[in-house]
Amino acid sequence: MNTAVAALPQIETKVNDLERIFNLQKENQFNVGNTNAKERIAKLKKLHEAVLKYRPQIKEALYKDYRKHPSEVDLTEIYPVTSEIKDAKKNIRRWMYGGRVKTPLAMMGSSSRVKHEPKGVVLIISPWNFPVNLTFGPLVSAIAAGNTVMIKPSEMTPHASALMKKIIGEIFNENEIAVVEGGVSTSTDLLKLPFNHIFFTGAPSIGKIVMKAAAENLTSVTLELGGKSPTIVDETANVDLAAKRIAWGKYVNNGQVCIAPDYLFVHESKKEAFVSAFKKYMKEFYTEDSSQESSYARIVNTRHFNRVKGYIDDAMDKGAKIEAGGKFDESQDFIAPTLMTNVSLDSKLMTEEIFGPVLPVYSYTNIDDVLQKINAREKPLALYIYSKNKKNTNHILNNTRAGGTCVNHNAAHFFNPNLPFGGSNNSGIGKAHGKDGFESFSNARGVFTQHVPNALDLLTPPYNDFKQKLIDLTIKWF
Ligand code: NAD
Repeated sequence: MNTAVAALPQIETKVNDLERIFNLQKENQFNVGNTNAKERIAKLKKLHEAVLKYRPQIKEALYKDYRKHPSEVDLTEIYPVTSEIKDAKKNIRRWMYGGRVKTPLAMMGSSSRVKHEPKGVVLIISPWNFPVNLTFGPLVSAIAAGNTVMIKPSEMTPHASALMKKIIGEIFNENEIAVVEGGVSTSTDLLKLPFNHIFFTGAPSIGKIVMKAAAENLTSVTLELGGKSPTIVDETANVDLAAKRIAWGKYVNNGQVCIAPDYLFVHESKKEAFVSAFKKYMKEFYTEDSSQESSYARIVNTRHFNRVKGYIDDAMDKGAKIEAGGKFDESQDFIAPTLMTNVSLDSKLMTEEIFGPVLPVYSYTNIDDVLQKINAREKPLALYIYSKNKKNTNHILNNTRAGGTCVNHNAAHFFNPNLPFGGSNNSGIGKAHGKDGFESFSNARGVFTQHVPNALDLLTPPYNDFKQKLIDLTIKWF
């Protein structure tokens, strides 16, 4: 970012190194894959201890990268990783076991079970907006599932990426887990390698590049993408609480959150009260002059500063009104928490994912008009409902599609490892966290074991009338 902190030089990892590490991991994949639950728990424990040991350095790195407050680092980078580790340690035995499944009567004398086997050599490509959380989070699932892992963190948060390379280098051999630094060039080279799975977190446009590259090797993918997550505050909602939670969800991490409320519909009868309460919390959280408040992070770099500022300017040109905020300082990539109304639907603020500290607000009288507008867009990663009315809530849930939803909160669903996390179509493919994360990095191998002779043995060619009768009976009764 454009501050006193010196930028680190852009690093790319050479193709030879990528191939060397890939081959080492390929050779080692059965050693890692055949570890038992106890051995995998020991690895997760090592990662847990390292994250806690390096907690001060992680805070320092993220401050250097985009002035993220240390408490926010604890809350949104450290805690999600340690909680994911604890959940995996507790449940890994059950996840690995997979379990017996029923076998049809016609196949009497046999048994069936599911064996969760590791995919093999996997690649994790992560974004910059929660660099540690979104790198080590999926890593926990990959370790639990018994894979060897290559990780390419984002070049936009170079301090965090360098530190993660150091941490992983200290606790794992590169033939098991390795961090390779680099930007688009390194990422493009990595995507040519025949990984057994790719777990990508980033923009939908880049997700398409990843999926195309993966198709060349028929590599499976988990795509954790983004998009515009709508929020609805209905006529029955507790407006003050909604405003408080939405102000937190919108401005935490400077709005650079894939599941931030992107734009908002509030019932006409509550609009004034909502805007007034929202302004109150903007001030309460970040004071009158948010540029002086250490709790408020910065835009990650000048490119993204210009992108978000460009969206605001474009909306203003099309008649939008700034209700609060709208202050900029390019020298430190600062955009104040901003609330806007009258934003034209064809302005960039509404055609692109905002990924910055700006909230466009619309009022409505008929909820079905709102749902129609939401459904006319790509499926969002999240959709939030603020309501005290169950019927309204269910109507919205049943008549929209989204990766995940919070009722009377936002972004909180990310923190429950028991919920599958991810998008749907344009906002993502596949799920992360807890058991779902483990399964993304595993192949559910069906194992059928024949114990005594079975009916199929009687039905081998050459076919005759007697065998046909047996087949008829099987079709009729089993
Ligand atoms: P990005 O897609 O630009 O970058 C993500 C990663 O992909 C980085 O490591 C980057 O080096 C690499 N990359 C970039 N361009 C590439 C290319 N052409 N070929 C190969 N690799 C390439 O995303 P970002 O700007 O880091 O993050 C913001 C986006 O990520 C937003 O859309 C946001 O919604 C999304 N996101 C989603 C989640 C989620 O969990 N679903 C979480 C965080 C962010």
